[in-house]
Amino acid sequence: MACGVVVRDADGAVVFANAAAHRIFGRPPEQLAGSAPPGEVRRLREDGTNMPDDEVPNVAAQRRGEPIRNVMMGLARSDGYVRWLLVDAVPIKNEDGSVHEVVSSFTDVTDRMKAEIALKEQGLHDALTGLPNRALLLDRLEQGIRSARRLGIPLALLVMDLDRFREVNDSLGHEAGDFILRQTAERLRKDLREVDTVARLGGDEFAIVLPGTDEEGAALVARRVIAALQRAFELDGEALEVNASIGIALSPRHGEDVQTLLRRADIAMYSAKRSAQGAAVYAEGADDDGTNRLAMMAELRHGLSHDEVKVMYQPIVAMDSQRVLRVEALARWRHRERGLVPPAEFVPLAERSGLVRSLFEHVLVTTLTQCRVWSEAGLSLQGTVNLSMRNLLDPELIETVARSIERTRTKPELIGLEITETMLMADPDRALRAVEGLRDLGVQLAIDDFGVGYSSLAYLQRLPAYAVKIDRSFVSRMTRDRSSESIVKLIIELGHSLGMKVIAEGIEDRETWDALVALRCDDAQGYFVAKPMVSTAIPAWLAQGHRTTTAT
Ligand code: C2E
Ligand code: MG
Ligand code: MG
Repeated sequence: MACGVVVRDADGAVVFANAAAHRIFGRPPEQLAGSAPPGEVRRLREDGTNMPDDEVPNVAAQRRGEPIRNVMMGLARSDGYVRWLLVDAVPIKNEDGSVHEVVSSFTDVTDRMKAEIALKEQGLHDALTGLPNRALLLDRLEQGIRSARRLGIPLALLVMDLDRFREVNDSLGHEAGDFILRQTAERLRKDLREVDTVARLGGDEFAIVLPGTDEEGAALVARRVIAALQRAFELDGEALEVNASIGIALSPRHGEDVQTLLRRADIAMYSAKRSAQGAAVYAEGADDDGTNRLAMMAELRHGLSHDEVKVMYQPIVAMDSQRVLRVEALARWRHRERGLVPPAEFVPLAERSGLVRSLFEHVLVTTLTQCRVWSEAGLSLQGTVNLSMRNLLDPELIETVARSIERTRTKPELIGLEITETMLMADPDRALRAVEGLRDLGVQLAIDDFGVGYSSLAYLQRLPAYAVKIDRSFVSRMTRDRSSESIVKLIIELGHSLGMKVIAEGIEDRETWDALVALRCDDAQGYFVAKPMVSTAIPAWLAQGHRTTTAT
């Protein structure tokens, strides 16, 4: 019999169990005795919540004296594994009507449940909130646009994200984050009509499709949503406040296809973030101009999640041995239409749009992974990654770095971080604490673009950095300009007196190289040594005679 059968007496003691029951529970029948769950097992309802004792089918059948059928019950082991059973329990009565025995029969439906859960997950709904997911939204939006066109009525698309969600998630934990997302979904759902679609696009991003709604109507809904979210969320007796920014795009006015409409609602959302109202309608032409900032921010976010941000590596060599010690990771944004966008253009954008942590994490993880690949191939190269101002002040910086190292299964020695001198001086105390935290992780630190800031000697002395990098502007002029040369000389002496290495960047010719050797500069970086290159070009470049520390 595939079906398990257990018979219990009036006291709940097992008087019979068949072989299938034995197999399903994985233990002999005598150990099935009693109604109390054996130590390591928790019983679950179909929705995953705990099943109280009096709801357990055989107990319920015994108490109520009537059959209990088709109950889905999960048995959770302490290791988290859940076995799902579909249970029937039938009481057998004495002549006086009292329950003599309870016969439970059950089938193991774990595989079916698993399949169902998986289907739900990859289906059209978001597992956390139960809202339609991105795929379903795209579909509804497409239909909505089409019927709006046919009927000659407008349609509004709202894209919303929560302003301080990341902070909540990071400081209070994922459970608090999930709670807020579920509550947000709940409030959104309550506020809308049957024909409207609320969807979760991912992360803390939601979208709402409002068929038959014009600008005025959309603005009204946006205000209502913002008001609904402004009521504090109660979590463990604490009140959490969440603000939302909403971008609005209208069809047909702002677009008659799904992608255009979504992009424009996204652009509007960025301008909403900077307005006091929290909502904004797409401004005509905001993304016509190729250099428009809001459009670029929206695209950068897309680019980061679609692997458009690439990392190039520029070798840094020891001037005496000419061995290659490390490579600097330099980010490039390979934009579909604009081509290769230099970091000077998109790093500031990332800083302003809250994308800078994702950018940093992306470059860091890419570099760590690359360094591991090189080290497995016998090349010992440290990758150095640039931090931006916001990264340095990010309270999660240390954790982000630690997590990236762990995720990529590498060692902290494989990376170095570069912080510009001006960044340090913007908030010296906070910067010092961050730098100390990084040092404690075992990550090396260099001070980048040194010479243009005004750091005090006393401060530098306290800073646990292994090197200073002389700013390119001095290096590139040093053979032509006396004062640049003296600054370079001074920085080298200063660095050495603080026990740091000195790296010169922006060396473009032999003359500059020779001058730096004469000044006893330690390491060199610049087009004269090598230009930044893609990771796969590094081994070939090394094969031309450049050596790493471990290569022969
Ligand atoms: P940086 O950290 O000072 O990087 C050195 C820059 O000088 C790089 O420019 C490099 O390509 C360039 N360079 C190297 N040798 C020479 C040379 O001989 N001549 C000349 N003219 N230039 C040379 P790039 O890649 O455009 O990066 C510019 C700045 O953008 C970097 O300056 C760095 O501050 C920032 N950056 C680059 N990648 C990232 C990143 O992933 N995150 C952050 N936050 N900033 C980054
Ligand atoms: Mg740098
Ligand atoms: Mg630099």
